[in-house]
Amino acid sequence: METKRMLTGDRPTGRLHLGHYVGSIANRVLLQHQYECYFIIADLHMLTTRPGKEEIESIAENSREMVLDYLACGIDPQKAVIYLQSAVHETYELNLIFEMLVSVPRLQRLPSLKDMARAADLSEMPFGLLGYPVLQSADILAPRAHIVPVGKDNEAHVELTREIARRFNHLYEDVFPVPDVRIGSVPTLVGTDGSAKMSKSLGNTILLSDDVKTVNKKVAGMYTDPNRIRADVPGRTEGNPVFLYHHAFNSNKAEVAELEERYRSGTVGDVEVKDRLASALNAFLDPIRERRAEFEAQSGFADEVIYNGTLRMREVAGETLSAAKKAMGLTGAWNRISRKAEQARKKREKDAGASA
Ligand code: ATP
Ligand code: MG
Repeated sequence: METKRMLTGDRPTGRLHLGHYVGSIANRVLLQHQYECYFIIADLHMLTTRPGKEEIESIAENSREMVLDYLACGIDPQKAVIYLQSAVHETYELNLIFEMLVSVPRLQRLPSLKDMARAADLSEMPFGLLGYPVLQSADILAPRAHIVPVGKDNEAHVELTREIARRFNHLYEDVFPVPDVRIGSVPTLVGTDGSAKMSKSLGNTILLSDDVKTVNKKVAGMYTDPNRIRADVPGRTEGNPVFLYHHAFNSNKAEVAELEERYRSGTVGDVEVKDRLASALNAFLDPIRERRAEFEAQSGFADEVIYNGTLRMREVAGETLSAAKKAMGLTGAWNRISRKAEQARKKREKDAGASA
């Protein structure tokens, strides 16, 4: 049986954070031996909210940083096809084909797009941002992926991809699998400031590459139960970011249970709870930091990974695009026209030869 494929990725907006890890990267590492892996560096998606020249200039550097984060987390560069979206032109073509299979109101109903427009301070929705989930469908279906490990905010986009795949297969021929979404262990990790999502644009992240001092400082400044003015006041652990992070990253479950108990009964201070979280986070991040340093020391390694992955992806996406156009009969039209044109040219040359 053919190995099934997985596709997911990130926008090259900078280094990756803990939210990316629990939302998607952990599942990638877990599933990478079961599936053929395709990881997209989604720079075209970045353009939907940040189309400025400066941002475009930063794509190469940000992509490198991101790939170093992948490798640091344990993604196997021998196995994964890690590629730059904008360099795979088949993506643009598939996107256009899929745009015909979705209605505008269907896209307008997606809450994620409004969130993105708001986060990027856009007063009006760019056409390309409305089409973001269609482009994402092209990304997922270009390698004909079966599974898509993403955070909760992307779930609705995978649902749309399923609809597009079904619609295409129904209208033309069975070309695409209907992909399944795989949401991470923490569907949406809250930010250090307590806002709903850890996000680069909100400046509430802990990066996978932050050093010990930075982690300690960020944890010390974390939002916690605001009603707790003293250590002997019983506190709330539910929805408290400090405890959410303890649950997500502290491998010592007994310690977490004990801290929760003492927090609720008002027998532990915020400082101690945070100190223990910082230690747990640093223990979690240490091996990631070490591996990152090893890959960083190999100059050009990340670039080679992206370069080779992009060349490979062009082949894979080319196969898919050909299959899609063939199923639609689009190649047929061009073939008929070129055949006829060739015949006409030959006949004209023959006639010219005969009359000479
Ligand atoms: P940021 O706002 O920090 O730039 P993003 O959501 O724009 O993050 P993407 O590149 O769009 O980053 O997302 C990459 C993957 O990481 C997606 O699968 C997304 O769902 C996931 N992800 C990002 N932030 C979080 C989070 N706070 N919790 C869980 N998953 C997340
Ligand atoms: Mg996002």
